[in-house]
Amino acid sequence: MSRVAKLAEKINQEGGDLRFDEIMAAHTTFKVGGPADCWLRPASGSFAACAARLFTEAARERIPVFVLGGGANVVVSDRGIRGIVLDTGSCRGESTPPQAGGACGETLSFGAGTAVDEAVEAAAAKGLDFSFFAGMPGTIGGGIWMNARAYDHSFSDFLSTVTLLSRNGEFRTYRRTDDFGYKRSPFQSTDDLILGGTFALPRRATEDIRLQMARFRADREAKGQYRFPSAGSAFKNNRAFGKPAGKIIDELGLRGFRIGGAEIAPWHGNIIINRENARAEDIKTLCDEVRGRVKRETGFTLECEILFAGEW
Ligand SMILES: Cc1cc2nc3c(=O)[nH]c(=O)nc-3n(C[C@H](O)[C@H](O)[C@H](O)COP(=O)(O)OP(=O)(O)OC[C@H]3O[C@@H](n4cnc5c(N)ncnc54)[C@H](O)[C@@H]3O)c2cc1C
Repeated sequence: MSRVAKLAEKINQEGGDLRFDEIMAAHTTFKVGGPADCWLRPASGSFAACAARLFTEAARERIPVFVLGGGANVVVSDRGIRGIVLDTGSCRGESTPPQAGGACGETLSFGAGTAVDEAVEAAAAKGLDFSFFAGMPGTIGGGIWMNARAYDHSFSDFLSTVTLLSRNGEFRTYRRTDDFGYKRSPFQSTDDLILGGTFALPRRATEDIRLQMARFRADREAKGQYRFPSAGSAFKNNRAFGKPAGKIIDELGLRGFRIGGAEIAPWHGNIIINRENARAEDIKTLCDEVRGRVKRETGFTLECEILFAGEW
């Protein structure tokens, strides 16, 4: 048995879902990605304890641990991921605060692995408005890490506290300050695990919230976001460009431009789709090609919003 497998077996005391050579395409919305040496979704109810053991033991043995939420913003390489993938899907209601869906006045707390759409629904049921993120794939933890943004609202607009676990196994509570920006969170410069977040949400009539949720979902549908596997916007917008990244790409006539199975969506310049059995390498090459052309033609440097994970 490999060192990685031995460690994973040892820390998985509560019988979580542990798999070896797990194909990551099954865990990403782009539907690409080769095998992870080991993929672990700890048993629900003991996620935090298991993650703490994993972090301390893996650090001691110098085994890398990659944290995966809903896989809605990552391109995992065709070679896969070395070490252990910690999947947060079971980080929901916990003895470690916050409790998924626990209400306290106008605030709501969700475990990191809660699907964003599920959180939006839970908030609406309590008359709290988190509707801007209706229909957005991914988890609460991933949304906090990315500082996800939709319909002019960022996660950080509502966030009050975040429960964190450091790589040396220490828990702490982060209180929001101003260190968030456009699709930028302070967690991007640490390797802390987000265990959950508490959001202060405006109170509104549930039927108004539900109407708005339906409008946002329909708008995403109309924009073709779910037509093919993707990770949403491929490139970040930048005020300095004077126009959205997608418009710049459109103006260069790159809609429908294809490398292997990866394609710039024919209906939107800033969405890369897995048109037909794309490899992760196709997506990466396409991103590099688009960035190169935009730089040459306009002088602008596009920044990828999608993240490249694993062994490239
Ligand atoms: C159809 C579609 C539409 C989309 N629309 C939008 C949109 O409107 N706005 C927008 O901002 N994004 C959008 N996205 C992108 C994606 O939904 C968001 O970036 C989302 O926040 C990613 O969450 P995730 O849980 O899937 O994170 P993942 O993709 O799993 O991970 C992203 C990063 O976060 C880290 N991470 C994840 N969870 C944790 C955790 N608990 N602790 C520490 N680090 C963590 C990972 O290590 C990785 O670096 C869209 C994607 C798709 C497929």
